[in-house]
Amino acid sequence: MARPLVAVLSGAGISTDSGIPDYRGPNGLWRRDPGAEKLVTYEHYMADPEIRRRSWRMRADSPTLAARPNDAHAAIVRLERSGVAVRVITQNVDGLHQMAGLTERKVLELHGTARAVVCTRCHDRTPMAGALERVLAGEEDPACAKCGGILKAATVMFGQRLDPGVLADAMAIAKGCTVFIAVGTSLQVQPAASLAGIAAEHGARLVIVNAEPTPYDELADELVREPIGTALPALLDGIAREAAAG
Ligand code: ZN
Repeated sequence: MARPLVAVLSGAGISTDSGIPDYRGPNGLWRRDPGAEKLVTYEHYMADPEIRRRSWRMRADSPTLAARPNDAHAAIVRLERSGVAVRVITQNVDGLHQMAGLTERKVLELHGTARAVVCTRCHDRTPMAGALERVLAGEEDPACAKCGGILKAATVMFGQRLDPGVLADAMAIAKGCTVFIAVGTSLQVQPAASLAGIAAEHGARLVIVNAEPTPYDELADELVREPIGTALPALLDGIAREAAAG
């Protein structure tokens, strides 16, 4: 058997055990609250200082930065360390795959990261923690320290395009992997969801680990409805054992 290349597409469901709610999915907090959605919509954020002030307060209050990786994140790191080639494509902005110990370059963040801020004028990139320190110290809408431009989280806001380079890399992984595991994602947000279909078309074994049905269930070779925190470690440890047995 050829050595497996395991691609993991992760969504909000992998991080709920870490205390991070689903913000941006179809039933996420932001979609259910149009006022909150404005805080992460590029057009409104850039046009309205009050939206930016509320957005910074929301980030300062968010559990995302303080969250810790959970057993599911750890299981992916274990698979990588077993010698199996692993790539993670994530819809999450929480940085928990890397914090769990996964090699940085093996994680593709489709929607960017909430752990950094970027200047919308000069594109200077700095840690989110520094910007939030300024917010907590009283700056309601901290500007870029280099050029005075508007700062924003390094996430892909509603109304912004995904990074074409990141998306192209994700497509290549979907086409080249032998196993594609979609975990904790409803597979309803495009183009991320289509990666599951592309992987299946190119001959990958498609495994979907999600509590709720998804539009790609009919294409899947295996559906897992059990809780992610126990189901994903069992699945990945099994793949590691099979690979070791060769
Ligand atoms: Zn700047």
